[in-house]
Amino acid sequence: MTHSTLSPVHIVGGGLAGSEASWQLAQAGVPVILHEMRGVRGTDAHKTDGLAELVCSNSFRSDDATANAVGVIHAEMRLAGSLIMACADKHQVPAGGALAVDRDGFSDAVTRALHEHPLITVVREEVQGLPPAEWGLTIFATGPLTSPSLAAAIQAETGKDALAFFDAIAPIVHRDSIDMDICWYQSRYDKVGPGGTGKDYINCPLDKQQYDAFVDALIAGDTVGFKEWEGTPYFDGCLPIEVMAERGRETLRHGPMKPMGLTNAHNPTVKAYAVVQLRQDNALGTLYNMVGFQTKLKYGAQAEIFRMIPGLQNAEFARLGGLHRNTYIHSPTLLDHTLRLKSRPTLRFAGQITGCEGYVESAAIGLLAGRFAAAERKGSEIVPPPATTALGSLLNHITGGHIVSEDEPGKRSFQPMNINFGLFPELQPGSIVKPEGVKRFRGKDKTVMKRQLMARRALRDCANWLGVASPVSEAGPVEPISAVGV
Ligand SMILES: Cc1cc2nc3c(=O)[nH]c(=O)nc-3n(C[C@H](O)[C@H](O)[C@H](O)COP(=O)(O)OP(=O)(O)OC[C@H]3O[C@@H](n4cnc5c(N)ncnc54)[C@H](O)[C@@H]3O)c2cc1C
Repeated sequence: MTHSTLSPVHIVGGGLAGSEASWQLAQAGVPVILHEMRGVRGTDAHKTDGLAELVCSNSFRSDDATANAVGVIHAEMRLAGSLIMACADKHQVPAGGALAVDRDGFSDAVTRALHEHPLITVVREEVQGLPPAEWGLTIFATGPLTSPSLAAAIQAETGKDALAFFDAIAPIVHRDSIDMDICWYQSRYDKVGPGGTGKDYINCPLDKQQYDAFVDALIAGDTVGFKEWEGTPYFDGCLPIEVMAERGRETLRHGPMKPMGLTNAHNPTVKAYAVVQLRQDNALGTLYNMVGFQTKLKYGAQAEIFRMIPGLQNAEFARLGGLHRNTYIHSPTLLDHTLRLKSRPTLRFAGQITGCEGYVESAAIGLLAGRFAAAERKGSEIVPPPATTALGSLLNHITGGHIVSEDEPGKRSFQPMNINFGLFPELQPGSIVKPEGVKRFRGKDKTVMKRQLMARRALRDCANWLGVASPVSEAGPVEPISAVGV
């Protein structure tokens, strides 16, 4: 098979990430041995032996590269010659502004492309332990359903608290959508703590009537059930808030919504009946997570019910909550900036096991792991994508941008993340200017313009990083809102 003098890179897992990583390596002239267990051993969710099988929905979400972070990462991956995006484009089915695919056609196309590549060998076997020394450079891309023996081996290497088997995701809110005329910054009892200021949390006050209405809505809200094979992973006091609400009307007020040690800066003489706290989630300070608000409520119900909280009435959610079976490592402490395991640098991780979430994000991290490993194998410098790109901002979040909180240490504080504009660095001050001829420039329009500018900056910087032609016209003012073409 090999028409290369380079020794192969081994990739374990032929899902979204492993398939993309294999392609990137092989296209760079590096031979690949891809180990995929399906065909020999299945998972609880996959149904076929095809590579890059989509286990649930057939959607790659928004394909709008002008103002949607998912669309931007699609576009960046296309610029980088992504196999996953090429096959998705080829097998697209109508879905409005989203990119949805014929799942069998898509998986067949990925499988065929990898099997036909002269530098790729696909081996159907379960890898049960860490790679033997003779493998050299290796990428683990075994996903949320990594087989139990391999998960145990990873845990033995990384430490018990560094590998999670379930996520417990609390919603994350864009900081600039929180109403600070209602909310205020304060840590409970003004505690400064290590690295804190005494004003580390955003607090949302509720009076009794608001609290009662909120509890009623939680109890009535529609939830998503667990799959049979997931069990009911209520652990570590990580109960979904709606389950807490069902246990008694006062439970939340004595748990995540307790008002003690907090004084409303806008109304100091009136004690709040309950308080929702949000904690800074990323180093950029653009995202805040709702502390203790892990939930199984359906997404629609979450947005509606959480906007009942005073101060969150216009909240924009970067990510909604969830609780799923999901094997992932504590990447911010374990991995370096090129996805290498610090304790064993010949081993990289890619895909959902790194703490990103979703088909597209997993493939994107696979793309980066493949490129980094190819550069390393060829003795070239590894140049990660700029932080202003979607690829770079997702990578940075996983490998360090997330803040590990003091009161929720270890694996609990790092939860899986989708790509969103909250992960991107802020624009230069003064970038957002009212377009000529626009009389009233509303907050919503500013948000759209901010996204458009971030999207353009990302695509331009990504093209520079890859050394390809930029798909966006040079700088200049943004065209009228929602009419920007890439
Ligand atoms: C039930 C469920 C529903 C989901 N629904 C969605 C959804 O609707 N939309 C969405 O965007 N994301 C969804 N996800 C998340 C999605 O599966 C992942 O984002 C994506 O598939 C991750 O890509 P990956 O390559 O990291 O892992 P995977 O695509 O899961 O690929 C990992 C591969 O590794 C193989 N493997 C595991 N262990 C070993 C081993 N020891 N040796 C060899 N091979 C091994 C597996 O067989 C698999 O082929 C869902 C996940 C689950 C579990």
